[in-house]
Amino acid sequence: MDLLKPAEASAAPALSERDQIADRFKWDLSKIYPDWNAWHAAYVELDRKIDEFAALRGSLDRGANALLSALSLRDEIGQLEYKVWYFASLCYDQDQRDNQVNAKRQEVQILFAKAAQASAWFDPELLTIPLETVRDWMVASSKLAVYRFAIEDLYRQQEHVLDDKGERLLSLSSRFSSAPNDAYAALSTADVKHPTVVLPSGVESTLTYGQYRAILATNPNQADRAAAFHEFHKIYEATVNTYAALYNGVLQRDWFHAQARGYRSTLDAALHGNNIPTAVVENLIEQAKAGTDPLRRYHRLRKKLLGLETYHSYDTAIPLVEFDRKYPYDDVVAGLPASVEALGGDYQREMHEILNGQAIDVYENPGKRSGAYSAPVYGCQPYMLLNYNDTLDAAFTLAHEMGHSMHTVLSHRSQPFVYAGYTIFVAEVPSTLSEALFLDYMLKRTTDEHERIVLLQHAIDGIVTTFYTQVMFADYELQAHRLVEGGKPVTADVLGEIYFGLLQAYHGDAIDYDEQSHVTWARIPHFYSTPYYVYQYATCFASSAQLMKQLTGRSDTNRHEAIARYLTLLKAGGSDHPMTLLKEAGVDLSQPETVQAVVEQLDVLVTQLEHAVSEA
Ligand SMILES: [Zn+2]
Repeated sequence: MDLLKPAEASAAPALSERDQIADRFKWDLSKIYPDWNAWHAAYVELDRKIDEFAALRGSLDRGANALLSALSLRDEIGQLEYKVWYFASLCYDQDQRDNQVNAKRQEVQILFAKAAQASAWFDPELLTIPLETVRDWMVASSKLAVYRFAIEDLYRQQEHVLDDKGERLLSLSSRFSSAPNDAYAALSTADVKHPTVVLPSGVESTLTYGQYRAILATNPNQADRAAAFHEFHKIYEATVNTYAALYNGVLQRDWFHAQARGYRSTLDAALHGNNIPTAVVENLIEQAKAGTDPLRRYHRLRKKLLGLETYHSYDTAIPLVEFDRKYPYDDVVAGLPASVEALGGDYQREMHEILNGQAIDVYENPGKRSGAYSAPVYGCQPYMLLNYNDTLDAAFTLAHEMGHSMHTVLSHRSQPFVYAGYTIFVAEVPSTLSEALFLDYMLKRTTDEHERIVLLQHAIDGIVTTFYTQVMFADYELQAHRLVEGGKPVTADVLGEIYFGLLQAYHGDAIDYDEQSHVTWARIPHFYSTPYYVYQYATCFASSAQLMKQLTGRSDTNRHEAIARYLTLLKAGGSDHPMTLLKEAGVDLSQPETVQAVVEQLDVLVTQLEHAVSEA
């Protein structure tokens, strides 16, 4: 058993100039506009329509037709915006060194700011008309009735909108509301001094966050990882009181806004937009905390396989086996449709079309944007940007983005424009489900025990970082906000105790703790930039685990029903509140079973891993 030597990251294929890459590996943006002249004509048309929309101000109370005209024009503007924006933005991402394209992209942003101003009158004006009147109009006009959910939801959100004086006061406060996050960014990024350290093995490293993560994920020497951890955390220890003061600013701001708008708590305020009950987050936290057994088993197994005397948070990212298999793009593309066989022939055919439609920009080239995304270009097709480098991670990234693209295709085709987009609350369901199906496919086919271990580790680490860590973060945010809601003091010590206590509650005796983990919270950008956001990764993961269970179930009838429900979810776009759409797909996030589905999934994977390492 040669499991003790962790793998080095495999080398990426050599970087090619863009014009040396074959066309079939590049996206074809001429399907959006044939050239920049056509783009410019659309830009001018968009500008004109924005002016037309501004001129409709004061017209809505004339009746159903006036409202319908405004809504239709708003849709036309929205559709044009997709194409005008993405043509420039995708072109820019091909090579971000291109200043001319960058300028065009910025022109679109300036036009969007104008559009926002020119349409700011619409919601307040509509809301002056009694909902009953608008409902009568919708009964009389079937074209207007299409907008029913959007209109009703606008009135629902109105509950927490204040009178003119109140709204003006709140808008005046918006200028300094972002100060805690701006100061956090300055302290943690612009002004930070990354230490250059010599690790015990003699390697010198400047500890940016990226370098630090790379050491944890690739350096087989535990003493090196420990040293990197200690030095990296010193950055936050040195100014932890400042971080605490800034985070207190975030908490106080959130509580101020929640109270000003008449919400019972900061969590209520954060969830109201999507109409999510607070029980969803509470249930998520409770079930994840009760389901830490497979998480602990995984860490104990890692400790044993890595042959470590003590096992720390800095030992949790290192690979378990040496493995450098390549996953060429063409091979993965050939297998991907087969991996979604469970979703039916139509779904597979749609996927073939995306794969063969010059919609994917596959390889890296100088100047290209890093990372990966799926861009939903309404009225055209979803485009995908990858930086494919033949690694297993790249193969799963393709499966993930393909989930987004399929969601886009089905939702755009099935919904009127107003509901074509989907919320973040649902967005990561198809992408993570697509990854889960691909994993299943790969596990069934592999005959190599090392590959099996790598696949299982990949899936388990996905659950650990996307589910458990994000729920722990959500738990931390909730506890910290509740301090402020209860009128309790917020200090670096108090925040450190909450974070450290959570680490212990999740990991028990499966890891050895370091005092410095008390300050880890200070680094997490989401805590400052987007409070109560990360829980959505975990709810998406839970939803997708529950769907996976139903889609791959034993009984044929149940399975077929589950497939139909899932495709209905993808086709539903944003036509209702996310909880309602998910419930119709068979996922009730307020129920313990849904969250337990992830715990069960992890349990099965850890058991498979235990089995695989004993075979290898
Ligand atoms: Zn995604």
